[in-house]
Amino acid sequence: MQEFTMRITSVIDHAARESGPREIVTRWADGSETRTDWSGIRRDALKMAQALEALGLKKGDRVASLAMNHSRHLVSWYGVAGMGGVLHTVNPRLFDDQLEYIVNHAEDKVLCYDAMFQPIVDRMKERWTTVEHYICYDSGEHSPAFEDWIGTQNGDYEWVAGEETDPCMICYTSGTTGNPKGVQYEHRSTLMHAIAGLQPAAFNFSSASVMLPVVPMFHAASWGLPYAGAMAGIKFVFSCVNDPAVLHELMLREKVTDSAGVPTVWLAHFQYCDKEGIDLPPLKAATIGGSACPRFMIERLMKNGTRVQHAWGMTETSPIGTVGGPTWDWEELSFEERVNKTAMQGRPIFGVELRTVDLDDMATELPRDGKTSGALQIRGPWIIKRYFKAEEDAVDADGWFDTGDVGIIHPDGTLQLTDRTKDVIKSGGEWISSVELENAAVGHAGVAEAACVGMPHPKWDERPVLFVVRAEGSNVTGDEIVEHLKPLIAKWWLPDAVEFVDDIPHTATGKISKKDLRDRFSDYKLEA
Ligand code: AMP
Repeated sequence: MQEFTMRITSVIDHAARESGPREIVTRWADGSETRTDWSGIRRDALKMAQALEALGLKKGDRVASLAMNHSRHLVSWYGVAGMGGVLHTVNPRLFDDQLEYIVNHAEDKVLCYDAMFQPIVDRMKERWTTVEHYICYDSGEHSPAFEDWIGTQNGDYEWVAGEETDPCMICYTSGTTGNPKGVQYEHRSTLMHAIAGLQPAAFNFSSASVMLPVVPMFHAASWGLPYAGAMAGIKFVFSCVNDPAVLHELMLREKVTDSAGVPTVWLAHFQYCDKEGIDLPPLKAATIGGSACPRFMIERLMKNGTRVQHAWGMTETSPIGTVGGPTWDWEELSFEERVNKTAMQGRPIFGVELRTVDLDDMATELPRDGKTSGALQIRGPWIIKRYFKAEEDAVDADGWFDTGDVGIIHPDGTLQLTDRTKDVIKSGGEWISSVELENAAVGHAGVAEAACVGMPHPKWDERPVLFVVRAEGSNVTGDEIVEHLKPLIAKWWLPDAVEFVDDIPHTATGKISKKDLRDRFSDYKLEA
């Protein structure tokens, strides 16, 4: 067979050649709309690659984006990779210390941002020591405007060639304790992940698909949609705001068939439709992941005729690991049974392998019996090997990456997540470090010990609840503790409740046993 180097540029070349006039619509933050197409995206990506070189950037250099979902962000995905660079998609929801750490750690040289994030740029400019150039995606008020900047080039450019294993994107995950960690995606891993994402068992795209991705382009490569979508030549509809009224109107007007996002997004959409007394949009498929998709959500979407693709993955896994959808026994299942099955996290797509191992003895693989739960491990061509700049591999000698999730594997391959060993809480798709919250809490003189766990929440999936053992003689109140925490942590990290207890359970090694604590409060309920 012929030689073919797996590079991301082949994806945009294909999209422009075979699906050139297929539209890419953007609804900007100020309410205006623009339309381009796959040919236009490629043309601008060539110009962007040229403009980056004109700034002196070289192969391997990192370019940051601080942006919502839009066509110019999409241009950057291909333009940066096209000049041999690495796009660092920065999550604007991180707080300042994390933003400082990741941009400096990635050594980003250029930062392209949305005007709505100008306050972040103003605040952080002094602290970002490696950024030499700022470009604004949608206005030239404080930095050169993206369109003007790439407009200085003629687009007569050849993509930079290189190895399949060259990096093309870096995403940081704060889903661990300590500093965020960088996960670098490579041309080859990205391409394979995108091909796998196309299959009916995953996104099920055809050229007739019209996708409005709500999952941000700054979170885990937007689940690889901008690549898989280009391969299939789908129409993209992007929105810079996540207001359900805006999304709803766009979905109807642009005849959107597919969407993707965390459960919280759908919940907001349900509430909007209920308030307005209108039907849900007639979507063919909704990919839901990032957090467990609640049963009632699946039921409502399925009754709406929407296929629910409940997916599990991580930044470290590019991110698709498993996706749910109709299985071979679907016809024999009742509606209830279908909902139950969809509430699990789906089945691994070709390319990745999953296994569960004993939580106390990680060498013992557990049976796929639909009963036994254990630590979930994964390996495959788009699964992390080593974090960016780390000294050691993140996997064992056989390539297994320990996900920090706990689950059950069913005999038909379906994954069912049951718990998490990592000490973090996921609220509305974003991470909260329970350890940092605890450390901040024990800084209060009235607190002897504090443990923070994520409790189920109807809107945010999980919210932090702080369990506190008062110091001897103290009668500190929950409100006083929250006041103490306010200057120390981001506002959305503040616990939803503070509960006082006589003791906090510990493991044999003296660590706080979150599992026992969760078991003890298994009936605990938070209100919306
Ligand atoms: P991130 O790297 O931020 O995408 O987060 C990955 C983590 O989110 C996983 O390790 C899980 O803990 C959680 N997660 C992702 N998808 C699901 C899902 N469908 N159900 C439950 N938890 C999920």
